[in-house]
Formats: sequence, C-alpha cells, structure tokens
Amino acid sequence: MKKVVFFFDLNKLHDAVENFNIQSFADKKVLIKLHMGEVKNKFFSKPDFVKHVVDELKKINAKPYLFDTTVAYLGLRSAKSGYEKVAKMHGFTPGKVGCGVVIDDKGISVKIENRDYEVAEHLFESTHIFAISHVKGHIATGMGGAIKNFGMGGVSKKSKINMHVGSKPRYTKDKCTYCGACAEVCPFTAIKVKDDSWNRNEASCFGCGVCVDSCEDNALSYKEADFQYVLACAAKACIQDKNVIYLNELKRIARSCDCDPFAGPVICPDIGYLVSDDPVAIDKASLDLINDVKKDIFEKENKVSPFKQIKFGEEIGLGSASYQLIDL
Ligand code: SF4
Ligand code: SF4
Repeated sequence: MKKVVFFFDLNKLHDAVENFNIQSFADKKVLIKLHMGEVKNKFFSKPDFVKHVVDELKKINAKPYLFDTTVAYLGLRSAKSGYEKVAKMHGFTPGKVGCGVVIDDKGISVKIENRDYEVAEHLFESTHIFAISHVKGHIATGMGGAIKNFGMGGVSKKSKINMHVGSKPRYTKDKCTYCGACAEVCPFTAIKVKDDSWNRNEASCFGCGVCVDSCEDNALSYKEADFQYVLACAAKACIQDKNVIYLNELKRIARSCDCDPFAGPVICPDIGYLVSDDPVAIDKASLDLINDVKKDIFEKENKVSPFKQIKFGEEIGLGSASYQLIDL
C-alpha cells in the first residue's frame, strides 16, 4: 500500500501535521527526537525551525520536550552533561525553543530479528513521538534521515558500538584471489592488496560494507550484519507500537552528518519539508527528491548506496518504500 508523504512550506506545517492526526497528541507528553548538532557543525536543524513544531504541539496542549542520546565517540556529546552544554550552545534553550531538553545515556533491551538493541529509556517509555530529521549525507550509510535518526540516534552507546563493530568485514584468506576490488572501492582506503597479501587498517574502517558487496569471491562477509540492516532494525526497536509523526528537513544538505564538525560542503540546493507517518516512505521520498535535483549525489560523495537502509527497512516491516507524494 502506498504511504502518503506531504511536501509543504513551513507556513503550512499545521495543515501538514493535521493530516496525521496530531490531535491524538493532545494533552500528551511528546518526545521530539532530533539531532542538536556536533560542536562546530553548522547544518543541523535550527532552534527557530524546531520552535514551529514545539508551538504546534503546544496549541493542542501537548507537553513537548527535545530529546537525543549521548554518542559513542570521544567529545562533549559523549556525556549527558556535555551534550546539554552543546544543546545550549546551539540555542536549544526553553527561552528560544519553548521547551526543555532531555539527553539519555541508558537503554532498555528490545529484540528485533533475533538481535538485541538498547532503546534509550525515554524513547522506550514514550507513547507519542515527533521526529525531526535533518536529511544529509553520511560516510557509512550514504544518507541520514528518519531511519538513521532512530537507528543510531535512538539507542544506547553500547548498541551504537555493537552495531559499528558488528558491521566490519571478516576476511577469509582461502577464498581471496587478491583481485584488489575491495581496496579500490573502500571510501576510506582502509584496505591494501598487494601480490598475495591483504590488509585492513581497523582504525580507518567505518563498517560501511562497500568492500563486502564488491567481493565476488565471497572472501569478505560481515562480522555480524550489514550496518544499514542493523540500522533499520534498531529504528524498528525504537518506534514499533508508538504514535510517531516524521518530519524530514531537506535543507542545508551537507556531504556528511550532523555528528561531523566538518560536514560540508552543501551538496544539494534546499528542497523543503516532508511529513509522513512512515519512516521508510519519508526517507525514500527524500532520496528521490534529492536525486531529481542532484542525481546519485550521496553515492558520488560518500561512495555508499543509501538505498540499502530503505530496502532493509521495508524487508523487516519498518515501513513502506512505496509512497504517494502530495504537494500541500
Ligand atoms: S575483493 Fe575479495 S577476492 Fe578481491 S582482494 Fe578483496 S577480499 Fe580478496
Ligand atoms: S567496511 Fe567500508 S570502510 Fe571498512 S574496509 Fe570495507 S569498504 Fe572500507
């Protein structure tokens, strides 16, 4: 069944969310899931835009709060107190946005497709969620949108690390023909193949899986699973059985993600805003709109196909890649 995705101007936000029964959010505590930006990143969703969503929720007497999780790499955002400082630094204060900020560092285990994912406590306990996803490129997944907002941004540090480590390649020497195809496609030049030697620099590998897909001799497999597969599974762990409205912001579409201090340059002109009740449909619509303007720009920039997360999302029942785009 085709899912509906609305394309709208910000002044039509009210009409856009009315189509997805925002009235059912009335009087409820509403978690707004978003990324509040790494230090020095310039492209994340801005407080003045986020305030439009907060105001819309307040109109129906909902009690919204902004929410994100700590990160697994070193830096201020790896601790709750540090991320709270960054949020404040980036203007996410009650005075500017109209609600408070909560950062989670703990998770509760949820099993999806026989693997455990630790969903952040607040997300786990929420019944009503509003997702604001800034759409941009990503070095390991090609693109980051609604699926990534939850699949990585909604889980604990332990799950983030497990997902990254488990998606690194496993090498089977006996099957290797030393053709060098994997070394050629690796976006991070982590693999070196010379004569009959094969080496991978563990520290340079982001687990994007491009080398695994390129090996025709099955000498490479995943330690556990494709990163975009576990991303879709983790997103499902976060949102299943909940009321969620997804808003994708297709503006300041940078090469890399909001976790990257040097995410630029912008690689596609601003497109606008989408809203839906399906994370797969809204990400597929975002990708299609971007490809209409800049064909295959994420693959060209990041050397990773972002369509895998859409395909896996559909396969595991996270949502539908089939959609109808309606211009409001
Ligand atoms: S692509 Fe496969 S067979 Fe070729 S060098 Fe890499 S691991 Fe070996
Ligand atoms: S998983 Fe990605 S980063 Fe790691 S070696 Fe393979 S292609 Fe390179």
